Amino acid sequence: AGPYHRVAGEWRHSFEDGSRMSVPLALYCRASLAEHLDARELFDLTRQGLTFFTELFGHPYPFGKYEQAFVPEYNLGAMENPGLVTFTEEYLFPDGATRAQHQGRANTLMHEMSHMWFGDLVTMRWWDDLWLKESFAEFMGAHASVQATDFEEAWIAFADRRKAWAYQQDQLPTT
Ligand SMILES: [Zn+2]
Repeated sequence: AGPYHRVAGEWRHSFEDGSRMSVPLALYCRASLAEHLDARELFDLTRQGLTFFTELFGHPYPFGKYEQAFVPEYNLGAMENPGLVTFTEEYLFPDGATRAQHQGRANTLMHEMSHMWFGDLVTMRWWDDLWLKESFAEFMGAHASVQATDFEEAWIAFADRRKAWAYQQDQLPTT
């Protein structure tokens, strides 16, 4: 798929005790999709989330850099690799997108970011406990969206879409 198109950014934070930290940011996508990488919105959300979670958890972002890559043929929504979250390229919108689609992407961005603390920094002992980090991240996706971004409708989308999806999944033998 490479070489990837890259956009660089930075997040800076001042703590109450006067200390400061900065974290380099980057976005990646296939070069052919470069014009559809809306870096401004994605970096805005990223900075809002890093500030929100750093303050909420009382622990600075732990992995030195925060990069996000949009990758092809990805059957997950996203994956919280420490310092380099991978997203399905379906979260780039070459044909335009509704507010609901932008909201869903913001929710996933916050979900994955919360995993940097809960899932990556602190992790479950074994796969049996996967539900714990995922339910926590599900909560944080909506909570951070409402508290830190313009997507104030995030809990409605959660109740209407993601919760219904969970009920469906829970009826399957694969649950
Ligand atoms: Zn997750």
